[in-house]
Amino acid sequence: MNYITAIVDVPTMQTNQPYTYRVPEKFTDLISPGMRIVVPFGKGNRRIQGFVTAVLDTLPTNVDVTKVKAVDDIIELEPVLNTELLALGQWLATENFSFQISVFQTMLPNVMRAKYTKTLQLVDQTAVTDERVQQLFADRFEVPFAVDEIDEELLPVLKRYQMSKAIQVGYHVENQARVKTAPVIEVLAEASFYEALRQQLPATAKKKARILTFLMQQAQGKVLLARAVMQQLHVTSADLNTAAAAGWLRRDEIETYRLPQLSQPVARTEPLTLNAEQQLAYDKIATTLTRAGTDTFLLEGITGSGKTEVYLHAIAETISQGKTAMMLVPEITLTPQMVRRVQGRFGDTVAVMHSGLSDGERYDEWRRVERDEVNVVVGARSAVFAPLKNIGLIIIDEEHEATYKQDENPRYHARDVALWRARYHGATVVLGSATPSLESRARAQRGVYELLRLTKRAQHNPLPEAVVVDMREVMQNSGEENFSPLLVEKLKDRLDRHEQTVLMLNRRGYANFMMCRDCGYVPRCKNCDLALTVHKETGRLECHYCGYNEIIPQVCANCGSRRISPYGTGTEKIEELLQDIVPDARVIRMDVDTSRKKGATDKMLQSFGDKEADILLGTQMIAKGLDFPDVTLVGVLNADTTLGLPDYRASEKTFQLLTQVAGRAGRADKAGEVVIQTFNPDHYAIQLAREQNYEAFYQTEMQLRHAWNYAPYFYAIQLKFANETEAEAAKVAYATVKWLQNKIAPETVILGPSSGAVRRLKNKYYYRVLIKFKHDEGLEQALLELAEGAQRLAKHGTMLSIDRDPVNFI
Ligand code: ADP
Ligand code: ZN
Ligand code: ZN
Repeated sequence: MNYITAIVDVPTMQTNQPYTYRVPEKFTDLISPGMRIVVPFGKGNRRIQGFVTAVLDTLPTNVDVTKVKAVDDIIELEPVLNTELLALGQWLATENFSFQISVFQTMLPNVMRAKYTKTLQLVDQTAVTDERVQQLFADRFEVPFAVDEIDEELLPVLKRYQMSKAIQVGYHVENQARVKTAPVIEVLAEASFYEALRQQLPATAKKKARILTFLMQQAQGKVLLARAVMQQLHVTSADLNTAAAAGWLRRDEIETYRLPQLSQPVARTEPLTLNAEQQLAYDKIATTLTRAGTDTFLLEGITGSGKTEVYLHAIAETISQGKTAMMLVPEITLTPQMVRRVQGRFGDTVAVMHSGLSDGERYDEWRRVERDEVNVVVGARSAVFAPLKNIGLIIIDEEHEATYKQDENPRYHARDVALWRARYHGATVVLGSATPSLESRARAQRGVYELLRLTKRAQHNPLPEAVVVDMREVMQNSGEENFSPLLVEKLKDRLDRHEQTVLMLNRRGYANFMMCRDCGYVPRCKNCDLALTVHKETGRLECHYCGYNEIIPQVCANCGSRRISPYGTGTEKIEELLQDIVPDARVIRMDVDTSRKKGATDKMLQSFGDKEADILLGTQMIAKGLDFPDVTLVGVLNADTTLGLPDYRASEKTFQLLTQVAGRAGRADKAGEVVIQTFNPDHYAIQLAREQNYEAFYQTEMQLRHAWNYAPYFYAIQLKFANETEAEAAKVAYATVKWLQNKIAPETVILGPSSGAVRRLKNKYYYRVLIKFKHDEGLEQALLELAEGAQRLAKHGTMLSIDRDPVNFI
């Protein structure tokens, strides 16, 4: 007799452990670890999905043989999680205080999450005397059961029958993973067979003649897509059925993939000859590809230095050794150019995985990887879980980006997962960036990673010249808060020269918010402690956090004054202002509002690349990865938006963003210029971004981090307490801190509780605690206990989240 252990689909702390089940004889040869199965669970033996974690020959001694239930069903014949991914999932759950089941679900395409349906089953027909219930079961023993679809009066009756066991509730696990198929025909006979048939046809049977002629020209056994045949021969599906009935061909279905499409086909590209610096970096990487063990490189290369070309060469080498490669990018919808470059080099053997795909497309890309039909995966954060085998190389481009950290449970960081997988496979890791995170750069400094530097632009063009414009002065002189005279002059100059400009304003919408000029009142979100943003296009005020919106008011809700009007500037308003400043300019605006539709960013960027516009105006989504040769001017309208964030990485984020966006200028043979407008012209992050001097920034910022005991000198964990009542959130937060104080190491620092920059979000009040520590076993243990107690807190209305290495402080 065989047993298995399984992690079941009940995300609670009590059930966050493997359960033992008996394997019925019919499944004993089929079942293996990593498979999805259906098991009974709990008192009511509800049927739920589970993942097999181990197969056992004997029952563990601590399990009561009389209580062991049997596996109901297996969902597929192949495991969906291999040994590596099962182990990874276990590690991730512990590391991030998450439920095992949630981690497994995160690692797989959405369609593999179970969908549950409820039914009512007739157990004892004779006991059912109520006519309406008899009618319900008139010709069946099981009916779908959804409370809102069943006559309300009937519910108590059904309840009674359920109590007396005349009927019972059934649970079904529905597999949502659907394979897409396409109809095909198979040619059954040789040409002579069809030839003979055709000679016997009456002259009027034109369609049949066409079909037979076609079949004559095909090899016996050939399989063709039915749709293509129908189009070519001008015949219908019914005609093919007739032919099949006559024994001429066989109709069938084959599996197909839903392949994600870019708006334009990708042209094949050839490898470029590496320059001296690139070659040096590549050689170092290449030598590690053949040797066992894991090497991690930090490729610090200025914008336009040709990091991507180094990646592509390294991937090619990995493939030629029969291994697979993974390349992570921050957000594919924003970097279609990158996908294009990888596909252009490696063609069909590349799988693309990101959140912009439909569930079906994602599932199909996942299967192509699972079946070893591809050897390169390009994708955003979750692609790090792609079921690639024999991984030789993992690349993380723009490794400093915060999007690599998932901001909800399980709060994993793709970089950490990548390093774990690389150790498992003995693979090489390349972290690339023009502005590496301080954590990674510090590791390179200590020799944990090997530092590789590209200090020159690949095409030998200089970095763009940057100037900082003091907007305080501009405001004083002209009252103008958006466009300095210098930026206007350069904008016009670019138009005259038919060159392109990238303008960044890190704030979408029309205006920042509405403000009453008489009493100062600012309309705020009903659910959050945030000012509502003005959107002129929709005529509404919108909360950028929860989506709440309302109509733009004409009068002040506080004092009744009509002098309530927009304050501050967003991308919508800049677009409007540009029409006055440069009326002839063609502008593309790219922000969350204009790029909601699938493929919209790809289209906008294509159009800009084809020079159908002069100015690309956008939020920070335009700062990354764009490579357009005719962009010779980059304007940053307000460099201060990220400086004011309540986040110890505010300076780092500002420096990174400015350096990245500045790097969009002058990438080809024409020189580039950058204009940075700011109200903090002397801030070191802005001055050093102007110089594009990463090394100096690294030194300065490290000193500050050291002085304030922040990363990379200390680790950080953020606790968040949320409750609908503010006092309750505070109470639990204070009690927790008091409890923690006795368990932590002396040098561990606890900041807070504080209500933070935003007190209320989505109708919940937040209290935050930041813990800074070095190595603290006591703390880790205490946090595990806290995670286990989170369930109890939740019952009393307080949600607790434990966030290791937090990147989001709002
Ligand atoms: P990065 O990713 O470091 O910002 P890219 O890889 O986008 O830089 O390279 C910048 C530009 O230089 C691209 O247009 C790329 O095609 C070109 N380039 C890169 N390497 C070479 C090379 N060895 N020879 C010629 N052009 C190159
Ligand atoms: Zn809101
Ligand atoms: Zn007012």
